[in-house]
Amino acid sequence: MDLSYKSKGRKVSVAACHPATERAVIAEVSHELRLPIANLKLLIETLLESAGRDEEMRQHFLLKAQAEIERLQRLVVSLLQEQHAEHLGVELERQWNCLESKVKVALEIIKPAVEQKSLQVEFQIEPGWQIYANSQQLDQVLLNLLENAVKFTDHAGLIRINSGAGTGCFSVSDNGIGMAEPEIPKIFNRFYRIDRAQSRGSTGLGLSIVKHIIDLHGAKISVFSQEGKGSEFHLEFPGPSF
Ligand code: ADP
Repeated sequence: MDLSYKSKGRKVSVAACHPATERAVIAEVSHELRLPIANLKLLIETLLESAGRDEEMRQHFLLKAQAEIERLQRLVVSLLQEQHAEHLGVELERQWNCLESKVKVALEIIKPAVEQKSLQVEFQIEPGWQIYANSQQLDQVLLNLLENAVKFTDHAGLIRINSGAGTGCFSVSDNGIGMAEPEIPKIFNRFYRIDRAQSRGSTGLGLSIVKHIIDLHGAKISVFSQEGKGSEFHLEFPGPSF
């Protein structure tokens, strides 16, 4: 597979995945795509056969089909984001970024979901707090963590973003459903979801993208979580010397 791409008009070669890794990724992706496609097929068959004649049933099955299509859409978007993060990593341009402005941009994006769940969002960021990182990738990290905080926090919950104690640090926390201790190391694996049945529209790709970006930057991420109490993601980005 040709993994080269164009950047600023130049062709850049990306180190090709080992064929076995590539095959494993393709197998994982196909597996994830298979379920929503099978569900859609079943829903449409049912609509064509019988449910289509009863207006209430028709509505019910169409809404289910819509949810499956949205799931497929999220999956494809996340896969593209993951691939984009890998490509950006080839020539990682880093700069100082104002954390407060970045957080404000991300909050604007998640605003409809925050309002829908009546969540409270607080941020305490030291004035002028800077993070040395690739600007686009920092946006992606903040967005993925905040989207999760929204997704896994129930109505009227609280989300916090704080600048940390040391240079390059910040945290995103919520008082949502939390996680059991043994699950924490697994959440960064591609497609991993703690409770698939209760996955709240999760694809299991967001944190694997975050981890990939963290690794590219030589940064660190730690998770503190308690079931029923909430979660905190703590990040530490190194300065220009990395
Ligand atoms: P997605 O992008 O689809 O949300 P992630 O890779 O970001 O998937 O997350 C993987 C899993 O980790 C989620 O399905 C969820 O079980 C768990 N998780 C992530 N963030 C949180 C959080 N803030 N609170 C509780 N569980 C979380």
